[in-house]
Amino acid sequence: MALGDFELGVFSDGTYPLDGGAFFGVIPKVMWSKKVEVDERNYVAAGLNSLLIRTGKQLVLVETGLGNKLSERMRRFYGQPAKLLDHLSAAGIAPEDIDIVINSHLHFDHCGWNTVRDNNGNFVATFPRAKYYAPEGEWVYAQDPSIRDAISFLPENYDPLVESGQMTLLKGGEEIVPGISVKTFPGHTAHMQAIIVQTPTGAKAPNPEESDDSLADSSGPTACYISDLMPTAAHIDLTWGMGFDLYPLDTIESKKEYYARAIPGKWLTVFTHDPKIPWAYIERDQSGKMVAKEAV
Ligand SMILES: [Zn+2]
Repeated sequence: MALGDFELGVFSDGTYPLDGGAFFGVIPKVMWSKKVEVDERNYVAAGLNSLLIRTGKQLVLVETGLGNKLSERMRRFYGQPAKLLDHLSAAGIAPEDIDIVINSHLHFDHCGWNTVRDNNGNFVATFPRAKYYAPEGEWVYAQDPSIRDAISFLPENYDPLVESGQMTLLKGGEEIVPGISVKTFPGHTAHMQAIIVQTPTGAKAPNPEESDDSLADSSGPTACYISDLMPTAAHIDLTWGMGFDLYPLDTIESKKEYYARAIPGKWLTVFTHDPKIPWAYIERDQSGKMVAKEAV
């Protein structure tokens, strides 16, 4: 899909099973099971969507799925589809081609392909040329997480990159390259950052008849990788948060803040864990209900 001067694509690492109850928190099964398929063990299939942005100058990869390094025990729970590199390769993209990798947070299902094991068993960057970025607060928290989500942090996905200097830690609010910035949305974790892609219309040939003012405040079409704030199109209602969220009341406030910008701005929202609807435009219908309008 074209977004102003940028090109966007979604590349999946496959799907993995999550307990439907945990995925939809306090929402009763009679309600969520109308929106997603559930198997006899109460599992739903969760997607692992990465967003690839071609800026014309760089190839930027947002999120890196489950990867291929899960332990035997974790593989029993989640499987290990490990499809991301194959899907990139099918589009002619090699790991060496990626210039920038951005992680919204450091849970194992979001940064798994950050690193791979080399022949000596050392953890090395999967994308050797890339500069990696992740939220600093996440990384600090990951050094000593609560026992509630400690299982979700696998240091081999980020510590070797921080140690080597290949990963830069972000406060939130930084612009990583022109048009691609991060913003902290607390709720799922305290420091999770969404990735906002906003192509400046000023990049196009300026119309001399337009005043400088109109150029200055005009921003091009916008997309946002909202990550686990709303992991699927079924989670767009304000109260439909995941059971995994560490701060569920903050999730609601962050969603309100997101919608205040994304709905009037007609932002394209990218869903990390939706296996069927990777992105959509979110609108509010007449009754105030959130609806996802699929992007074609
Ligand atoms: Zn997460």
